[in-house]
Amino acid sequence: MKYQVYAIEYATRQARSSENFFGHSDPHEDYPMPLSYYIWVAVSGSTTVVIDVGFTREVAVKRHRDYLRCPVETLHQLDIDPSTVPYVVISHMHYDHVGNAHKFPSAEFFVQESEMTFWTGKYASKPHFRSLVEVEDVVHLVRENFRGRVHFVNGVEEILPGITVYKSGGHSAGLQVVKVNTENGNVILASDATHFYKNLEENRPFSVVHNLADMYAAFDLIRSLANESSIIVPGHDPLVMERFPAAKKGLEGVAVRID
Ligand SMILES: [Zn+2]
Repeated sequence: MKYQVYAIEYATRQARSSENFFGHSDPHEDYPMPLSYYIWVAVSGSTTVVIDVGFTREVAVKRHRDYLRCPVETLHQLDIDPSTVPYVVISHMHYDHVGNAHKFPSAEFFVQESEMTFWTGKYASKPHFRSLVEVEDVVHLVRENFRGRVHFVNGVEEILPGITVYKSGGHSAGLQVVKVNTENGNVILASDATHFYKNLEENRPFSVVHNLADMYAAFDLIRSLANESSIIVPGHDPLVMERFPAAKKGLEGVAVRID
């Protein structure tokens, strides 16, 4: 199955390069390096797969993020009704990727088992980790599991024809990268396996680390999945909005078509 892939930008945050790279130590290298926040959508005929769901306006206020729009509301502008979306892939359970799951009442959620295990395990409450999630988001997914709506993946799985997820870990215990078949080759939605193009291009991990060696392994994984025609999409790079055209007329600066 071949999909069209879209990215919707819903929030931003001002930041500097010194905050964004792990182990940053060069005092001369400190330039503005803002983050964008996205969700992604893959559409093929009547099949819609949403990849990550973003955070709510309330969480944006609490965490001092600049909220542009609710990404779930924006789906309507792509003729997608969130209340009937059947498939949602969760790249990982950090607050900026899983906060609107309750707005998808019909969805089955695809998550790596190691990610859920971590956030329901004994280290989730340690301050470094605790700050990366909203407790209610984790609880919501636990509830969805008891409703039979969570599909656990262990490593690699073609979850739907043309959509394969790969566990990379590194930035979180069970981060997964999503490869989507399109008419023009593969789109690799790296999510936070590489926040910016620069992380991957310069082999420099982002500052939020679960396992440093696995962050390097995640870069290798992304490269191994890509061929000449592949498009790699980083998780938080504002350049995504510049490098790709508007998803359609009226969505300039809101959503882009990747493939
Ligand atoms: Zn993120």
